[in-house]
Amino acid sequence: MKITGKLKSLAGRCIPGRVAATVTIMKHYGHRFTCPCCQGTFRKLLTYGANARPNAKCPKCGSLARHRLTWLFLKNETGLFTDETSLLHFAPEEFFQKQFRLMTSLNYVSADLNAPSAMLKMDITDISFKDNVFDMILCSHVLEHVHDDRKAMSEMFRVLKPGGLLIAVVPIKREQTLEDTSATSPEERKRLFGQEDHVRRYGRDFAERLQQAGFSVKVIDYVAELGPELKDKYALENISIHCCTKPKSDCGVHAAERSQRHEKANRASEP
Ligand SMILES: [Zn+2]
Repeated sequence: MKITGKLKSLAGRCIPGRVAATVTIMKHYGHRFTCPCCQGTFRKLLTYGANARPNAKCPKCGSLARHRLTWLFLKNETGLFTDETSLLHFAPEEFFQKQFRLMTSLNYVSADLNAPSAMLKMDITDISFKDNVFDMILCSHVLEHVHDDRKAMSEMFRVLKPGGLLIAVVPIKREQTLEDTSATSPEERKRLFGQEDHVRRYGRDFAERLQQAGFSVKVIDYVAELGPELKDKYALENISIHCCTKPKSDCGVHAAERSQRHEKANRASEP
């Protein structure tokens, strides 16, 4: 009786949410758009964001354009879906994490400073793994929230194996990165950096920061590579993917040099 009562109570809480989600999916069902993350097909996507972007969010899995593009890139252009891979995933998106955890070829770890859904609680500027352990790191829309992003980059470099790959995605809206450590209030950060919890607004020089951490960086306009038909089909936006390789020839030789550059960059950014 007790168990039945608990089940009834659980069902009472879950079913209305599930029914609402199913109704939303059915209302949007069609063949105009495909979500590569959940394979759903829709006549339209949900409107989303501060600017109320139409056809932005998948009604089934919640993916946005940047998620769909990253997913396609990972699937088509890397061995993540086919090869034995150790993957460290920062600030894991729920629908990515769900699928990654089912992939038997992946040795998967997700981490976040606060999110309870992550497998590990971890500071990206102080990664609790030894050197050279991961084949790949996925870090999307994280670094713009991190005060010492150069330390985060050098930590990711450290834990990647030589030849390992960091996939980094950040919002880029300008040429030169804008930082102002005196902007500490949510209002000021929103005004300067576009969001209350962002601590900088990256420019196209983001790639240089990654290079300074030791990475060999390719900035990939994957939407252009896919072409207009697929851009439309998957409801994509022009977003750069920074594909960063840790060179196979190490590393140790250059560590002191990188450390000096890091310190120099920090001094330069001090007010
Ligand atoms: Zn989806």
